[in-house]
Amino acid sequence: VENCLKNKVFTGVCTSVCKTNIDDLVTEKWVDRLIEMGVFYTWFHVYRPMGPDANEQLCLSPEEMLRIRKFVVEMRAKKPIVFVDAYYDHAGQALCPAATGITHHINPWGGIEPCPIVQFVTDSIHDESKSLVEKFESPFLKDFRELARDTTRGCIVLERPDLLANLVTKHTAKDGTVRATAMAELNAMQVRPSQYNPAGAVPEKSWAYWIAKKLFFNDFAVYDGRDHSAKSAPSLLGRREVGTVEATGPAVVPLDLHIGKS
Ligand code: SF4
Repeated sequence: VENCLKNKVFTGVCTSVCKTNIDDLVTEKWVDRLIEMGVFYTWFHVYRPMGPDANEQLCLSPEEMLRIRKFVVEMRAKKPIVFVDAYYDHAGQALCPAATGITHHINPWGGIEPCPIVQFVTDSIHDESKSLVEKFESPFLKDFRELARDTTRGCIVLERPDLLANLVTKHTAKDGTVRATAMAELNAMQVRPSQYNPAGAVPEKSWAYWIAKKLFFNDFAVYDGRDHSAKSAPSLLGRREVGTVEATGPAVVPLDLHIGKS
């Protein structure tokens, strides 16, 4: 970060918040340190246990996710640094940017994936036989958006990995990784809570963020008329139709926030 700032690179600090860093980094002290360093924007997203070394012990509880949301809303109204987030609209209602269709992901080999952690592909940007619009409107991506919208306002990967695995199988989507273990990783996941917390919407306090989100980053009405009480994780966990996956946190190593401070 210091090298980027020294060389006048537009710099942001993105944190995958988990059990072992939430107390150190979701703090005013850490935000003040970033401001002091000259960092332009920050982003606190929530750890997802995907990939070859997924560690479910690091996952956050719904209360911890709500704590991050409240912190970001407070800090946005108070600190001279930009806070990015992709999980909520202006009213604090959860959303998934891949479900709304505002983002998808292109992997290093050109494969078009629903999002960075759903690493399955049916199309490539290098295939010249189809237009980019056709590729983003492919049956796989269209079905992904429809399934995600219909299941939850939150993250389908966290909440219903089982439904996602069925979708991948139905479309015979290829593993987009070099590991070739994406399906095994998906199958190893359990039903978990995500940013969708029907009882805990925290609206923006900063008028600038409120307006910007209302105009440019909202759910684009894709959830209108959908009932998420059947398939979403908060409903299943609330009705005890699946087991609670609350983990005891791993050992925490305290961070020294003054490393590199001159
Ligand atoms: S599926 Fe989950 S990780 Fe992917 S974009 Fe949606 S909320 Fe984010």
